[in-house]
Amino acid sequence: MPDYDYDFIVLGGGSGGVRASRMAASFGARTALVEGGRLGGTCVNVGCVPKKLLSYGSHYAEDLEDMKGFGWSIEGTPTFDWATLKARKDAEITRLNGVYASILDNVDVEVVEGWGVLDGAHTVRVGDHRLTGRYILLAVGGTPWRPGSDLLPGVEHTWVSDDIFEMPELPRRVIVVGGGYIASEMASILHGFGADVRLVCRGDTLLRGFDDDIRHELGNELRKRGLHLHFGCHLTRVDKQADGSLQARLSDDTTPEVDAILMATGRVPRTKGIGLEAVGVQADEFGAIQVNDAFQTSVPHIYAVGDVINRLQLTPVALAEGMVVARQLFHNEESKAIDYRFVPTAVFTHPEVGTCGYTEAEARKKFGKIRLYKSSFRPMRHTITKRNARTHMKLVVDDATDQVVGLHIVGPDAGEMTQGFAVAMRCGATKAQFDTTIGIHPTAAEELVTMRTEWVPVPEDHPPRS
Ligand code: FAD
Repeated sequence: MPDYDYDFIVLGGGSGGVRASRMAASFGARTALVEGGRLGGTCVNVGCVPKKLLSYGSHYAEDLEDMKGFGWSIEGTPTFDWATLKARKDAEITRLNGVYASILDNVDVEVVEGWGVLDGAHTVRVGDHRLTGRYILLAVGGTPWRPGSDLLPGVEHTWVSDDIFEMPELPRRVIVVGGGYIASEMASILHGFGADVRLVCRGDTLLRGFDDDIRHELGNELRKRGLHLHFGCHLTRVDKQADGSLQARLSDDTTPEVDAILMATGRVPRTKGIGLEAVGVQADEFGAIQVNDAFQTSVPHIYAVGDVINRLQLTPVALAEGMVVARQLFHNEESKAIDYRFVPTAVFTHPEVGTCGYTEAEARKKFGKIRLYKSSFRPMRHTITKRNARTHMKLVVDDATDQVVGLHIVGPDAGEMTQGFAVAMRCGATKAQFDTTIGIHPTAAEELVTMRTEWVPVPEDHPPRS
């Protein structure tokens, strides 16, 4: 048997790579982790963590207004200092980078700093350094995508999501291009910090792939808060002006002047130039590595997990996939395919979105006859603040089995609520079981266990209510 430097070489120290290498090493595998950027990857440095910190920060704008309804007042006008928040956010990220380093050090994972390239079936090259491994894991993640200047003249003046975390100062007027969760969240965050935000999206509403009611209601709630949503519209040109501002041209022939344009137009796997072709690892046309249920690529001793395989681009999913690989290779466990149904997810807009399971449209296709339960109400705190905001909830039930197969929420704390209900949904909870669960009063979540009346669409020829 050939002698390798390591049992396991992991390329990429993000969510999937750190988890896989840490577990492999704890099972006794001699493990090296190659990372070209900062430990923790996208999630820790330019994703979930800094995004949620900024989201907390920007929410105070709303809280400061709402507190007046409860009798609170602050003398003078509250001000916000971006430099303070950025410095504190940076300090927290640096702390987390250190936590990751010591977690890896504690189990003797050797961290190799630099960008790795596959250089032979069992070899990874990092600069002049060559490492050999019995198994290799590709966990190189993804990177923001924006069109080239042939498609969008002036694109070089725009930002991608990574840049938001490094902005030297807050822009006053911003265009956010895109309709996915990153565009929606960033638009909400920048608006909360006081920017005048236009969200420009090709689609007819936000969050393609989410339940249609939720997409529609999120748009309404964002509009009520003052965001300008331009649907069915796209950016065609950007010109930088002498004073540094940007003149945008939109497909509706308007030419707004702004201070920044964020292109939140998708992410692509970070596989360019890492040597996939040379060793025969197959990727699709977008660079996503093809794997089987055991996360094995077309080269059997090379594995891939996380955003680079383009299944569900979420941190907990990358962690779960990394654990499957480490367990099957170094803990004699049979590979267990991951069940991607009922993976809960949240969108940290203001208000939040939480979702788990099938949308109404998907459920109709899969189960045929379904039942719907919907509720829309003013959150209790806003009975006092008088803010024009509502919470929207929807349950999708498979009629044949009574199983709750979809849960969708727009409203405060939607993410927290959805995480709890996801456990029940994963266990196959039925609507009858939801109904026999006693609620916690007074909460918004109790509504999910007290929706008794099936929602039926009003026929179009139904006489209007007086
Ligand atoms: P990554 O975390 O991207 O890690 C890949 C690592 O590999 C990086 O550190 C990179 O530097 C390194 N690397 C790449 N190429 C090489 C190479 N050749 N050599 C050495 N190192 C290399 N997910 C959620 O679940 N919740 C959220 O709220 C959420 N918010 C997000 C917000 C934003 C703005 C973004 C961009 C993403 C967000 N995500 C969120 C998605 C989440 O961050 C990713 O799904 C997750 O980080 C994927 O982990 P990964 O290990 O596959 O890749």
